[in-house]
Amino acid sequence: MIADSSPLALLGGRKTISAPFQRFNSIGQEEVDAAKAVVETGVLSKFLGCWDPDFFGGPKVQEFERAAERYFGVRHAITVNSWTSGLIAAVGAIGIEPGDEVIVSPWTMCASATAILHWNAIPVFADIEPDTFCIDASSIEANITPYTKAVMVVDIFGQSANMDAIMVIAEKHGLRVITDSAQSPGTRYGAKVGGTLAHVGGYSLNYHKHIHTGEGGILVTDDAAIAERLQLIRNHAEAVVGDKGVTDLRNMVGYNFRLGEIEAAIGIEQLKKLDGFVASRQRAAQRLTAGLSGLRGLRTPMVRPGSTHAYYHYPLVLELNRLPVGRARILEALDAEGVPGVSGGYQLLHLLPMYQQKIAYGSRGFPWTSDICHRDVSYAKGICPVAEQLHDSTFLGFALCAFELADHEVDQIVAAFWKVWRNLEALA
Ligand SMILES: *Cc1c(COP(=O)(O)O)cnc(C)c1O
Repeated sequence: MIADSSPLALLGGRKTISAPFQRFNSIGQEEVDAAKAVVETGVLSKFLGCWDPDFFGGPKVQEFERAAERYFGVRHAITVNSWTSGLIAAVGAIGIEPGDEVIVSPWTMCASATAILHWNAIPVFADIEPDTFCIDASSIEANITPYTKAVMVVDIFGQSANMDAIMVIAEKHGLRVITDSAQSPGTRYGAKVGGTLAHVGGYSLNYHKHIHTGEGGILVTDDAAIAERLQLIRNHAEAVVGDKGVTDLRNMVGYNFRLGEIEAAIGIEQLKKLDGFVASRQRAAQRLTAGLSGLRGLRTPMVRPGSTHAYYHYPLVLELNRLPVGRARILEALDAEGVPGVSGGYQLLHLLPMYQQKIAYGSRGFPWTSDICHRDVSYAKGICPVAEQLHDSTFLGFALCAFELADHEVDQIVAAFWKVWRNLEALA
């Protein structure tokens, strides 16, 4: 790579990256053909919301679920119309009572926690690991109270949390564990597939993710009782339980979380491509890491030993005490060089207005102010110091899944970083 000694674009020099990168599009001819074939049958969905063979959905939904069971190595895969729906179904399926506490990471997409509130349970935020951004097992343990019923683990950015440690803690305290692996399909965790180590987990199929069906999600579990409850919540449980002979009526308020046949047919094709997409993210990430490793005060991503990373996001951390300028100035300079998809911070849930003001349902503070809530749960700034520091000043992420980066594009990103780093003093 030829070092660019021109001034920073921010200071009037030449931009490192002038042509926009190709956006990631996972949809090809196979998906077009699969969708067309379904449309031609006229059967766009076949679910019936009563106890009937069609309670389980149409042929493509069932074919997609069997393919997902093989791919993820689980007994039961259950498709849903979004992963938000999947998370809601998962929390309902594990038998939550109103007022139960569920420990969750604040460093995630908002649905990981609202799925808990949905069943009138109380999210309790635990801190994250500074190098993987996943929920920290020791912070989970520190947040357990007599009211804790479950843990919502988020496999953020593309790799699994420390599931070995988390499952030991869960076992010790009798907790259920859900994994939100929306961003981490197609990874390995030891001998297992990432996202399959908890009691129930799953993946998003929305259009930002590695593979997608427009909108959609897949739940996975090895537990037959949980699987049955997921299917019931997905499809109008209350109208089904009588004829199906279900006697455990906990959280049998059902929904329509059903995936359509067109989406399922597309999903079958997408699943075949998942390993290839993950491999191309890994290749780009490894090249980025090799290129960025020499920069002072910049920490490249850590991959948990024994597992693999699917790089939905490519996370970087600034060591501000080794840098003469702050994050905002660095972001400005990278942006001016034409680096797309780079941003500071990440969603930090406990500081959202809903948690700060404790208003989820109605206007009077339900569920926190009601007598189902056992104690005063804090969402104050300071409860998750690692996540807060990363959010405010030190995290720098690259939305890797938004692009299909070729080697020369990765090299341009690396060149832009080097140029900015060579000029940090001029930025100050
Ligand atoms: C995308 C995402 C979700 C929500 O998935 P949808 O399919 O959009 O409902 C939940 N959690 C995480 C971590 C996500 O990235």
